[in-house]
Amino acid sequence: MARVERISRRGFFAVGVVGAATVGLGGFEAVTRQADLAFVRPPGAESNAQVVAACTRCGRCWQACPYGIVGPVSLADSIVGYGTPTLAFSKGRCDFCMKCTDACPTGALSRGGSRERDLGVAVVVKDACVAWDWAGCTVCKDECPVDGAIELDERDRPVIHADYCDGCGACERACPSASLRAYDAGVATKGIVVVSRYAQTAQIAQADQAGQGAGESGQSGRAGGGVSSEELFAGRTAPAVEPLAPHDKGVHPDGPNATREASRSVGGVHEA
Ligand code: SF4
Ligand code: SF4
Ligand code: SF4
Repeated sequence: MARVERISRRGFFAVGVVGAATVGLGGFEAVTRQADLAFVRPPGAESNAQVVAACTRCGRCWQACPYGIVGPVSLADSIVGYGTPTLAFSKGRCDFCMKCTDACPTGALSRGGSRERDLGVAVVVKDACVAWDWAGCTVCKDECPVDGAIELDERDRPVIHADYCDGCGACERACPSASLRAYDAGVATKGIVVVSRYAQTAQIAQADQAGQGAGESGQSGRAGGGVSSEELFAGRTAPAVEPLAPHDKGVHPDGPNATREASRSVGGVHEA
């Protein structure tokens, strides 16, 4: 416990000093806030602004996760969001056990809001996805626990339905892309990646501008056929006016579905 409290105070001090130093640098602060919108947060992080304001960087949430997928935002990734929780699916996927949410002493993560069962949305990375270049890989669809979140198009390539996907990360965790193709520094290591709904909106806008809106179907928005690695990376910091609305159809087999259904009645578009 003593270690946790030392981390908390150190994190708070660092954020306070650096944050104060950036006050007045309006443009830089705006960019930082935009970048913060790209973080995939644990269940119950109702908005980015709310997490940054309420989180004391105590570390209880990442200590509570049985899969080790919760960790702190690094200083390199965000000055304002430094030390607040984000998800990485290299070690596992989220099964909505809510241990991180229940461990949070400040309400930065809390039950009952529209984000309780909505972490983000998966996007297919076309130049990294094996099925997009060749054929025969359906690992992400096979591993997805939510009916309807991933479908295969007429050429057996994965297509994401954002109305169903809750961002659990099972697909990203299982994707074997990097082990099946030659290394390329400009290409994502996974053929499918969970991003925040803000980042996905920005990525789709970029793909649409390039005339590649979500693949050959030309369809973008709720049903997504993918983005390039370049659009994936750029979409993490590109401005997005508003996020894609939370998923409202998919039902994850784990966790309290009754609670999830209750959260839908709160509904609405997430606040930044
Ligand atoms: S809900 Fe459970 S599995 Fe998901 S991030 Fe929190 S502690 Fe980890
Ligand atoms: S989200 Fe809550 S539990 Fe996690 S570091 Fe912040 S205050 Fe602590
Ligand atoms: S993030 Fe989860 S729900 Fe969404 S497509 Fe991937 S495995 Fe399915």
